[in-house]
Amino acid sequence: MKAPVAKSLSVGSRTDIGCVRDHNEDSLLVKAPLYVIADGMGGHAAGEIASELAIKTLDEAQLTQLDPDTLRHAVTEANRRVIDGARRGLGRHGMGTTLTAALIEGNRLLLAQVGDSRAYLVHEGQLRQLTRDHSLVGELLSTGKITEEEARLHPNRSVITRALGSDASVQPDLYEIRLHEGDRLLLCSDGLNTMLDDTEIEELLQYYPDSQEAADALIVAANNAGGFDNTTVIVINVDQLGQQAAAKQKKRFKWGILSFVVVFVLLVGASMGGVYSYARNVAFLIDEEGYVAVYRGLPGDFMGVELKWLEHKTTIKVDSLNPTTVGELKSGIRLGSLDEAERIVTQYEEQQRKKR
Ligand code: MN
Repeated sequence: MKAPVAKSLSVGSRTDIGCVRDHNEDSLLVKAPLYVIADGMGGHAAGEIASELAIKTLDEAQLTQLDPDTLRHAVTEANRRVIDGARRGLGRHGMGTTLTAALIEGNRLLLAQVGDSRAYLVHEGQLRQLTRDHSLVGELLSTGKITEEEARLHPNRSVITRALGSDASVQPDLYEIRLHEGDRLLLCSDGLNTMLDDTEIEELLQYYPDSQEAADALIVAANNAGGFDNTTVIVINVDQLGQQAAAKQKKRFKWGILSFVVVFVLLVGASMGGVYSYARNVAFLIDEEGYVAVYRGLPGDFMGVELKWLEHKTTIKVDSLNPTTVGELKSGIRLGSLDEAERIVTQYEEQQRKKR
């Protein structure tokens, strides 16, 4: 039986035309593990077409793995299709769109950014803008020529300096961020952040822990503040970094340990002190005579020295687990801490119980 995959995210989203516009040029995609907002421009229906083309391209790229090159490629392909669309009479010449895409895998977040839609992260209650706006005011702001408040009210705030649909060589900014349980990710079009400042956004998110309620509340607040533009928001709550995340972490940890060890050996030569204290903090699970055993330290030996200490042997039969796990347990599954090892043991116990 396959291990149950813990539900790790809850997502709320909404797009709204606003109080002044007569059509919605924003588009969005909510399709785990990919979340995208695009804010089109170009007048009449062209903006809608541009943002829809971009979203459709990303959707069709079927991004499932968190790989920067693949994501970058999907964005440049979206750019090509918006430019090509205008050429073929879809929409009109000069149409374009912003694009803010988030790809989430376990506790990793990869963002691609073109234009002035935004990604924010709430970590331990604090809101932080993750992306940098490709806009005139964004540039003035980053060079310290104007303040946040001036930027929000600037007459040229809608002038963006990078978008999909104009320049064939456009490239997205990519950001990789580590997520923690309890974090909240907000993607939004500028309809939100031109109507509300960061403090107001942070307060609303605090007030509405539920992701859909937060998304709804943000839209209502943007409209109440004037709603001069279309507004789109996606709120993603990182509820639980469950089994899926643990499995990924495991793999990364293997590499983490490997590169740590290599660097360490290069830097400190034969000194074992650092490795020893490192080993005291990590843990691993291993197949011992058909049962799962929990160890502190590292499996195998390090330059002839064993750095492992048995914590306890469990009553979990290895052959009751899924075949991949059985294989991994032969050489040992390395984990970042004893706590993490114990968490996985609990999951194994559940699997074993289900199997009976
Ligand atoms: Mn807009």
